Amino acid sequence: MGVPSGEIVARPMVARACGCEQEFQHYAVDKYRAQRLAKFQKTRCSACVAKLNEEQRLAAAALPSKGEAFQQLPTGAQVTMTRRPDGNWAGTLIAGGTTVEAVADGPQGLAVSLARLWVSARGAKPAAAAKPAAVAKPASAAKPAAAAKPASPTTGAAKPAPKSG
Ligand SMILES: [Zn+2]
Repeated sequence: MGVPSGEIVARPMVARACGCEQEFQHYAVDKYRAQRLAKFQKTRCSACVAKLNEEQRLAAAALPSKGEAFQQLPTGAQVTMTRRPDGNWAGTLIAGGTTVEAVADGPQGLAVSLARLWVSARGAKPAAAAKPAAVAKPASAAKPAAAAKPASPTTGAAKPAPKSG
């Protein structure tokens, strides 16, 4: 029922939802060719489906973990949570001038969502945020210059004296 049969009578190239053109096979006997064609045009090709899945997997992996997200929130971060009539929780997180909103079925999940949203809204990468210590380095480099000052030609002249002893 509905399965096309017979010879393939035509193989037109048809653009799919992803924009790729793919061969659509016309069978000699195919009551549902129009429906099959419509579905073909509304869906992505398998290569793009795989690519999309991979992108979504990477995007999910790029999100900071619960602990990382909370650690990146600055001092003064404020979270407001409100239980709604439908039992869900709506929340707002304000930190560092960035405000994010989210809805979740519980306060714990909501706090995590808000923290992650905030981190991704700021575009902060976990690695970059963890390295503020590097800024301190240039300051120590300035010290040797100050130490060089006391040196004067007169102290150098006095040195040969210990030789006689
Ligand atoms: Zn495609």
